[in-house]
Amino acid sequence: MTVATDRPVPRPPLPEYEDKPKSRVDLILFAVFVTVPFLAVLAAVPFAWGWGLGWTDVVITLVMYIVSGLGVTVGFHRYFTHGSFKAKRPLKITLAVMGSLSLEMSVLDWVATHRKHHKFSDKEGDPHSPWRFGTGFKALSKGALYAHMGWLFEPERVNRARYAPDLVKDPDIQRMHRLFPVIAITSLALPALLGGLLTMSLWGAVTGFFWGTLVRISLLHHVTWSINSICHMFGDEPFQARDKSRNVWWLAIPSFGESWHNLHHADPTCARHGVLKGQLDPSARVIRWFEQLGWATDVRWPTPERLAAKRIG
Ligand SMILES: [Zn+2]
Ligand SMILES: [Zn+2]
Repeated sequence: MTVATDRPVPRPPLPEYEDKPKSRVDLILFAVFVTVPFLAVLAAVPFAWGWGLGWTDVVITLVMYIVSGLGVTVGFHRYFTHGSFKAKRPLKITLAVMGSLSLEMSVLDWVATHRKHHKFSDKEGDPHSPWRFGTGFKALSKGALYAHMGWLFEPERVNRARYAPDLVKDPDIQRMHRLFPVIAITSLALPALLGGLLTMSLWGAVTGFFWGTLVRISLLHHVTWSINSICHMFGDEPFQARDKSRNVWWLAIPSFGESWHNLHHADPTCARHGVLKGQLDPSARVIRWFEQLGWATDVRWPTPERLAAKRIG
């Protein structure tokens, strides 16, 4: 017999990880996507020596890098994970597609993983802390490699409903999540297609694929992973954060401003990460353009009072 009651029954918290771990095929695919593009970067220099790199390749690679990179920084990170602005629906969908072109993760998995990183940053439960194995030289070297890419090979998948309930409920995001394999294949094929069409040659398709797909993906992956490894180990700490996040100036351009990572952990919802004088932040510039166009609203720009409160010294 059941007894009716008005009082809500407290629900137990959702588990940290999805019931279904990554499959063997997922892990093999990860290994392929990590290794093959990286080998392409190593081969890039001799390949470019006198042949195999034309202006078409440069343009295709740059455009693909910028579009997929900003999809991650402005879209997956500042908008979907941290809500540093509100986006009109077409912009929301465009950012989800652009970020998916990076072949990092689907928008749902990326956001869930990154929110868990902020919740436990550099403590037990952080999916990718370089401090995981300790502070000695050997432990930190191992930790750096783990934070850079080793963590991707852990079979657990962060629980989406626990860490990204807002996105799980959004039918547009569910669709983008399901379409991730299609967007990924498009991202792999598009540079070859463009290279072939623009030069009207098979060789143009080959070099377009080499630069615009393999080299571009590897560079973007390593830059993204450097935020997890390098920016949690070395650099300046002008702001108070609960973790070991640091600002790394030389990664600011390739990471579109994400390497001002100490400020980001000190004030995660802030739309601008490079807040000090001379700190370039291309992602913040793009958010400003979206705001001027009326596509983004309620942008959380930094205020001098808020920054002063978080400043060390
Ligand atoms: Zn971080
Ligand atoms: Zn973040």
